[in-house]
Amino acid sequence: MALIVQKFGGTSVGNVERIRNVAKRVARWKALGHDLIVVPSAMSGETNRLIALAKEIHPQPDARELDVIASTGEQVTIGLLAMAIMEQGCKAKSYTGAQVRVLTDSAFTKARIQSIDEQRLRADLAEGYIPVVAGFQGVDMTGNITTLGRGGSDTSAVALAAALKADECQIYTDVDGVYTTDPRIVPEARRLKTITFEEMLEMASLGSKVLQIRSVEFAGKYKVPLRVLSSFEDEGEGTLITYEEDEKMEQAIISGIAFSRDEAKITVTGVPDRPGIAYAILGPIADANVDVDVIIQNASVDGITDFSFTVHRNDFDKAMAIARKVQAHIGARDIVGDSKVCKVSMVGVGMRSHVGIASQMFRTLSEEGINIQMISTSEIKISVVVDEKYMELAVRVLHKAFGLENEPV
Ligand code: ASP
Ligand code: MG
Repeated sequence: MALIVQKFGGTSVGNVERIRNVAKRVARWKALGHDLIVVPSAMSGETNRLIALAKEIHPQPDARELDVIASTGEQVTIGLLAMAIMEQGCKAKSYTGAQVRVLTDSAFTKARIQSIDEQRLRADLAEGYIPVVAGFQGVDMTGNITTLGRGGSDTSAVALAAALKADECQIYTDVDGVYTTDPRIVPEARRLKTITFEEMLEMASLGSKVLQIRSVEFAGKYKVPLRVLSSFEDEGEGTLITYEEDEKMEQAIISGIAFSRDEAKITVTGVPDRPGIAYAILGPIADANVDVDVIIQNASVDGITDFSFTVHRNDFDKAMAIARKVQAHIGARDIVGDSKVCKVSMVGVGMRSHVGIASQMFRTLSEEGINIQMISTSEIKISVVVDEKYMELAVRVLHKAFGLENEPV
């Protein structure tokens, strides 16, 4: 008998029939003798609808009120799901984040969980209830409703699992696990039985949308055993997120290929090579709340160098305007922008112990005539920035070149 937190995504609770199916699944686990806490998202499309409503009143909604509005999607699904679970003959009780007391900071629309009061949930479990807790939401010190950012119910589930020291946190979604890459681009992409927590963190931050990145960070910090599963299949073990030291079975060098489409690149040319220049360029960018990703500065020739960095495409215009202001100030030659680039990354803990992965990657891309504009590496990933028109091709040829469709031996 175990304590399991089960999270169901928006499509899994997208209509009444699906909510009934979730309730049946929950009841089956309960019948096996497990203690369960269930965390649903809002019905698919609902959070978007609520945010759009707010924007009809004002294009930049007041953040506090936006959270009041956006959090209601989950309040509907907890009630419906609790009723559907009762219909299966189990005892269930719904709770909003505030009722549990999922305490967060006051950063509306992107609040962070600070603590969870588990007493009420423990008491319910002891009496045989299945608590159904709203994902995505919490409450701050002064009682304001907060939300945790889009996709935040993953984080709610992981945080609950951490607080209650659950044996496993199961994330039920519309895919049956984590894949070597997006199967819509590479049909041969393979479901991974396991992936290490660090690899998952890279995959999530590099654009794989299976889990909210914060939930992966949380799971890593508190060592929550995490599993991604399909809510539409009855069998299947999904993908288990493991810790490297426990990893014995699957020993792939590369676990997956991630990509992000909406990148933009800015190059400051003819930059004087002297202390303080990187700060002079990136300081104002950071002050404007623009996230910078890949950064490259060349070795200088005659005291002059080029400095390039990437930002999210949404921030391109803003970052270009800032860069132009800085250009005059530091006496750089020019600013060149390209808003049509993307990033393709190979991720694998096996890179730590294998050389030549980068050169094989670069050769594969060159054989297809794909020009690499920027490169960045860490111990367990290599990312390249390329023209967006080559993105899908790059992912496909790399997947093939590294044989990711085959089960590692
Ligand atoms: N309903 C929220 C959203 O769409 C939270 C979630 O689904 O995880 O972002
Ligand atoms: Mg989600």
